[in-house]
This record gives sequence, C-alpha cells and structure tokens, in this order.
Amino acid sequence: MAQKKAMIIGSGLVGSLWSVYLNQAGYEVEVYERRKDMRLTQISAGKSINLAMSYRGWKALDAVGVGDEIREIAIPMWGRTMHHVDGSTSYQPYGREDQCIYSVSRGDINAKLMTIAENKGDAKIHFNMECVDVNMNAGKATFQNTVTGELVYAEADLIFAADGAFSAARYKGMQRTDRFNFSQNYIPDGYKEILLPANEDGSYKLEKETLHIWPRERFMMIALPNFDGSYTCTLFMPYDDHEFCFNNLKTDADVTNFFKTVFPDFYELMPNVAEVWHDHPLSSLAIIRCYPWTKDKLVLMGDAAHATVPFYGQGMNCGFEDCFELNECMKQHPNDYKAAFDAYQKSRKPNGDAMQDLSLENYIVMRDLVADPDFLLLKKVEARINALYPEQYFPKYSMVSFSDIPYHTALTKGTEQENMIKNLIEENGITAETSIENIDALVAAYMAK
Ligand SMILES: Cc1cc2nc3c(=O)[nH]c(=O)nc-3n(C[C@H](O)[C@H](O)[C@H](O)COP(=O)(O)OP(=O)(O)OC[C@H]3O[C@@H](n4cnc5c(N)ncnc54)[C@H](O)[C@@H]3O)c2cc1C
Repeated sequence: MAQKKAMIIGSGLVGSLWSVYLNQAGYEVEVYERRKDMRLTQISAGKSINLAMSYRGWKALDAVGVGDEIREIAIPMWGRTMHHVDGSTSYQPYGREDQCIYSVSRGDINAKLMTIAENKGDAKIHFNMECVDVNMNAGKATFQNTVTGELVYAEADLIFAADGAFSAARYKGMQRTDRFNFSQNYIPDGYKEILLPANEDGSYKLEKETLHIWPRERFMMIALPNFDGSYTCTLFMPYDDHEFCFNNLKTDADVTNFFKTVFPDFYELMPNVAEVWHDHPLSSLAIIRCYPWTKDKLVLMGDAAHATVPFYGQGMNCGFEDCFELNECMKQHPNDYKAAFDAYQKSRKPNGDAMQDLSLENYIVMRDLVADPDFLLLKKVEARINALYPEQYFPKYSMVSFSDIPYHTALTKGTEQENMIKNLIEENGITAETSIENIDALVAAYMAK
C-alpha cells in the first residue's frame, strides 16, 4: 500500500511536533513554512522570547520520545516571586515541592523541534513558503516562495493547519465556508519585552529558579530566566485610558520616570531601561475562537484553532496537547480521517475555550490578586487542604499546569473549589492570623461534612 501523504502548514512549535507524531503513525510528511530557516540565521522566533512549559507539554513531547531533548534546554521555575512597590518580595510555590513549570527559549525549542522533525520525524520542511490558498476538498494548497515570488502547488491526503493565530489556511479555507463561526477579540493591553542582561560574571541579577512578577493591579511585568544569566521581562499594560499605559510613555524621560516610580527595584538593576525600550516592538494580544475546526481533508491545530492571551502560559502546552489528542483520535479511527477529525474537534473545542477563559482569568490573578490579602488567605487555606487531602483535592492551578485533567473540568471544578474555600473562610472567620493548627482543624471539620 502506498504511504499516505500529510501536509503540515507552519513549522512553528505545534507543526514541528506534529510531524513527529505523523511520521510515527506512518505518514510521509511535508511541512511548508513561511519564514526562512531560523537555524541558519539565529534569529529569534519572534513573539515572546521565552515560554513556560508545563505538564501537558511534556506529556505530548514524551509520548513521541522527544521530551528529554527539550529538557536539556529547560530551566525549572518552582514558584512566583512577587516584587512589591516598596521593594519587598514575597514567594508562592506553584504546587508541591516536586512540582514546577519550566522556562524554555522560544527560538531554541522551535529550532530543536524542527531538527527533531527532520531527523526523528523524517519530515521535509520547505522554508520561505507562504500558504496563499487551500482547497480543502481536494487536499491541495498553494504556496508563494517569499524570496522568488514563484507559486508552488502541493497536494496530500490530509492537510494540518498549524500556521498560528492568523492562520492563512483558516482564512483561505475554513472562513469561506458556510456556518463557520469566528471571533477575534483584542484585549485592551499590549506587551513589550525588555532583556535584563546577566551580571558581568554571567550570574543572574534575580533569583533564578522562579518566575518573577511585579503585580501592579491593572498591569504587571513578569520575568523568566534564560540560560545565559539574562531574564526576558515582559511588561503587560493597557495601550491607553489609564494613568500608566503604553501611549503615555513617549520619551526616554517618561520611560525612566515610569520605571523609577512603578518598578523601583527593577530600575535599580537596570537604570538604562530607556535605552533598550525600543529594542522590542509593542505587540497586541488577542483571543481567537472559531468552529468547526475541520472541513474535508483539513484540520486546524494549535493557535490556528485557539489562539489565546499568554497569562496562564498554556497556548503552546494546549497546542502540544492537541497533537497528543489528535493522534489518539486517529488511532481510534484508523481508516476514517473524517471521524477522527470530528472526534478531535468535539473533544478539544470545549477545552480550547476553557483554556482561553482560564488565560483571561489568570491575568487578573497575576497582575492583582497575587498581592491581594484575601487571595493570599484563600491560597493559604487551599495549600492546607491540598497538603491534608492530596488525593482528593487539586488546586485549579495544579489541575491546569500539573495534570492533564481536561481544561474545562479544571475551570469548572477549580472555580467551585475556590468558592467552597471562600465559604469556609467566611463561615469560620479565618484570617491571616489564624494558626495553621486551627485552619487544619476547620478544614478537617468542613471536609468531613
Ligand atoms: C507574549 C506571549 C507569551 C507566551 N507565553 C507562553 C507560555 O509561557 N507558555 C505557553 O504554553 N504558551 C505561551 N504563548 C503561546 C504560544 O506562543 C503559542 O500558543 C504557540 O506558539 C502556538 O504554536 P503554533 O505552532 O500553533 O503557532 P506559532 O508558534 O505561531 O507557529 C506558526 C507557524 O506557522 C508559520 N506560518 C504563519 N503563516 C503561515 C503561512 N501563511 N504559510 C506558511 N507558514 C505560516 C509561522 O511562521 C510559524 O512558524 C505565548 C504567546 C505570547 C504572544
């Protein structure tokens, strides 16, 4: 029997990993990527410079035996370190002592996954090939060579669109079809990256194995460690209509004053912040929802299906989980790709939606609640419940980041649990001063009900 041909549009994070899955499933894989080969030019893969990887991502990588290669380029982060305006810091572990998330460089992981796709996935990646049209029924796509302008026509048994948030496959294919639902919502905030370099001896200027947050109620800055001792800091803030907003930072003096006033401890580490302010562009953030995710021979994956805002660090993780789940669906329906694609979209769509809702919700947690006394009390009580009933109780954050419990279950169950703890606190008058022993006793009585 002739080997089945698969076409992947986009050799980003999801497309590269998916090619390994397809190869292991016996497909001949051709990948078409708009950009030039980043491994030859050492350019950053764009967007944010580092990403947080958690359980779902590792599970999908390990399932095709490539997790350990990525672990070589991953830095553990065991919790959040909050930097307050008065210069003090506080720390919250992410989960149990053995649980952490990881900082990975976007450029490094994408480059490594491409090499894995070629070597382990036996994929042929065609660079400088921009998808300009798709025929979903015929399994055909047209690409324009971004260097020569030449049009290239490709055909396959199946087409996987992993071409990101502004997917051309989605615009040129799915969006032209009847009853295709689509929404694109920009949030009022944008983001800008700032590289905090290493000390001269290569050491880190901030504590290394933690994610740093400067929560400022309506906005925040975060920093994730890189291997070379630097940190990638990202400032998330409204574009306008707020005392502190990007459009108010017009001059170097505005930038300097802003950092001096709002992030004084960071300013001390980086008094030249105004000089590097323009090194990275100001970028926007949107949630893109659509449905269906499949039509004829084409199926959407990763950001092409469910682009999100980055506040839960789940976009890539969810995209990698798409690979795992789509593979399971294809195994369950080996001779019926339509049934496989349909099973995939039906099970993944509610999870994509929930992941997007969780991402929006977590912006408020990160920029505001992590410094809010009521939230800190809730987390303290939750940590006790989790310690006393580790088999019965998983905090929402743990369900999302340290398990593969479906996102929509994590969202609904996690919210119910948080409401339950709020009641427990209110009914029993628990305060920040209540001793751990008393909290444990109240928790035991509540759980026994
Ligand atoms: C600021 C920020 C921080 C983030 N932080 C995290 C995080 O901490 N953790 C996390 O899990 N996720 C994070 N994300 C989300 C994550 O970046 C995305 O979910 C992930 O990159 C999606 O992978 P993808 O392969 O679907 O899309 P992409 O990574 O966008 O890859 C799409 C690929 O398709 C190519 N392409 C595009 N158009 C065409 C075309 N017409 N023809 C051919 N090729 C094309 C692109 O060049 C690219 O290579 C963050 C996102 C942002 C913006």
